[in-house]
Amino acid sequence: MAASLSRRRLLVGAVSAPALAIGGAACVGASQPVGDASGAREAGAAVHTASKTLRPREVTRVIAGTASRDGAGVKLRRLLGGRELAHLDPFLLLDEIRSNDEADFIRGFPSHPHRGFETVTIVVDGHVTHRDSLGNAGDIAGGDVQWMTAGRGIIHSEMPRPSTRGGIWGYQLWVNLPARLKMTTPRYQDIGASAFPEVALGDGRARLLAGAVERARGPIDGIVTEPLALDLRLEAGARLRHPLPPGHAAFLHVLEGAIEVGERKARVDAGALAVLDAGESLELRAIDGARLLAIAAAPIGEPIARRGPFVMNTDAELQQAFADYRSGRLVAG
Ligand code: MN
Repeated sequence: MAASLSRRRLLVGAVSAPALAIGGAACVGASQPVGDASGAREAGAAVHTASKTLRPREVTRVIAGTASRDGAGVKLRRLLGGRELAHLDPFLLLDEIRSNDEADFIRGFPSHPHRGFETVTIVVDGHVTHRDSLGNAGDIAGGDVQWMTAGRGIIHSEMPRPSTRGGIWGYQLWVNLPARLKMTTPRYQDIGASAFPEVALGDGRARLLAGAVERARGPIDGIVTEPLALDLRLEAGARLRHPLPPGHAAFLHVLEGAIEVGERKARVDAGALAVLDAGESLELRAIDGARLLAIAAAPIGEPIARRGPFVMNTDAELQQAFADYRSGRLVAG
């Protein structure tokens, strides 16, 4: 399969990715130590006593996203991994595909490889059909999530298909793997919408994709960066406060409505991504009825060598990945 693919096809997937990024310079507030309890501030009146010493995370950056194309010409908006923010360790990329015009997405992402990290596909509406070198095939539909650990190598296709309404709305997040797991056995977690627990969180509701909220656990498991991934809904005026692991990098992406975040009440509108600083809790209020993704994971703190569909630690490992792909050893390994 791999041998029949031209190098040009391989590189089509890489046209808008950074040519080569090494080092963790762009990591914003993700790996700094958290202050001790003396730095904690008094919490607002609405907050429970037990959590009032948790330092809320503040917004360090709001990213609007950059229009881009990838795959076989799919129009997308790059929120992480582009010109605005090269990465937020361990997050390498966040792309949004959202269109009601099939011409923008129907050519999809034909057969292409990955090595050295994880791809997370979150479908809001529509479908992404996938097929891979291990013989897996399936359909990721609205509400579903696929967490794919590419490890030492996978070759797959990802083809957006419209919902009955006619459009697609979905995301792909890339999460890095540490050096010791870059060549691990590939693994898929295809989780249907109904498998995600829904829990009350403050005044809102959370669909728990990964990680734990009190005694509930999201179905995506065994991920080395210990992600917490929440799909949150809040009515206008609703508040929530929830502990976040202090060392985790974290961001919010608002799908609908508008929110204000932290004690500084930074406003984040629909479509934007907000990078959060170090701290112990997520604190927000919905200005308008809102839906957002809140995603946090442990930074890896290793050098990043990335090019197109491969993310390794060194340039030599990248060259090996391209050589393995050309020779058919990427997946046979
Ligand atoms: Mn892919």
